[in-house]
Amino acid sequence: MRKIQMVDLASQYQKIKTEIDEAVLNVVSSTAYINGPEVQAFATELQDYLNVKHVIPCANGTDALQVAMMALELKPGDEVITTTFTFIATAEVIALLGLTPVLVDVLPDTMNIDPNKLKAAITPKTKAIVPVHLFGQCADMEEILKIAEEHKLYVIEDTCQALGAEYKFSDGTVKKAGTMGNAGAVSFFPSKNLGCYGDGGAIFTNDDELAARLKVVVNHGMTVRYIHDYVGVNSRLDSIQAAILRIKLRRLDEYNKARKIAAEKYNKAFAKCDKLVTPYISPNSTHIFHQYTLITKDIDRDALLKYINEKGIPAAIYYPIPLHHQKAYLDERYKTGMFPVSEELCKTVISLPMHTELDDEQIEFITNSVLEFIEK
Ligand SMILES: *Cc1c(COP(=O)(O)O)cnc(C)c1O
Repeated sequence: MRKIQMVDLASQYQKIKTEIDEAVLNVVSSTAYINGPEVQAFATELQDYLNVKHVIPCANGTDALQVAMMALELKPGDEVITTTFTFIATAEVIALLGLTPVLVDVLPDTMNIDPNKLKAAITPKTKAIVPVHLFGQCADMEEILKIAEEHKLYVIEDTCQALGAEYKFSDGTVKKAGTMGNAGAVSFFPSKNLGCYGDGGAIFTNDDELAARLKVVVNHGMTVRYIHDYVGVNSRLDSIQAAILRIKLRRLDEYNKARKIAAEKYNKAFAKCDKLVTPYISPNSTHIFHQYTLITKDIDRDALLKYINEKGIPAAIYYPIPLHHQKAYLDERYKTGMFPVSEELCKTVISLPMHTELDDEQIEFITNSVLEFIEK
């Protein structure tokens, strides 16, 4: 059996090696390393894939979130609502800009922001909502957009884990994750569903004015060469990364499908086990399985993790600590017990290896090992 990886980037690369190597060497000999034609071509191709008007490439997913908040001209003191069960970057940029992160709990099934809790957290200072499409499935966008419209709030979708996921509105309209709110932020970190070979990110929007401001913010706030009307940042996608992303974007649907097939095999193996809750799939969203995350019931989750780790299975806990328990984000507004769903998930979730290259032998070994621990 091939060694099991949490994410098997080496095997994936082997299958596209000729194409990738040629594209990378072409950029190297072109010397158009920054903002070269590959970057523009990638942005255009991603626009077409997403059916969105503008894609603005940037340096990583964290910057994408930050730049979106800067371009929307959020100001210190403004409150931005997100969940306590997410990767730190979501709240980090809110804090970094002097905005006030307001945390809310998630739903126990999708693990995405709970629209009722979101509604309850709105104050006159609230300016924006950052729903996270966690683990590859869209948050309840229809409800979130309704609330946002009612209270005149911006919606910035953290799409870092859900590029290619689709959300279906009750009128039948289908939209891609990241294209429903005012802006969507994505990361091309190597382990993401569309990953480059370094850091990368992008912001999406259908708003022409916002797109123009985003382009200025990522480029030092520069409107005309050496004229700086805004405080900006330096956040660029390398041409080499763009060239790699163009090749992998053509395979994104195929990659997401391979993850889904692996998830279905996991589901099947665990279907009869009453100690494991397999990922819930919302009727409104596809799931692209950035992570395959189980919720354990009445078992020692950490002992399970240790057991399978010792068998050479690199599982992981996403996330072990909710944001309101992180030292840097401790806040007297938040007490233990205020976000019971997230607190419980942190104690019970476990994510199994998930990538495009899992074979049946590996899946069988993983599922047998998990069940072996539970049944012993
Ligand atoms: C990966 C990720 C980010 C940050 O992306 P980087 O490219 O690593 O900066 C932000 N939010 C979520 C939910 C993520 O998974």
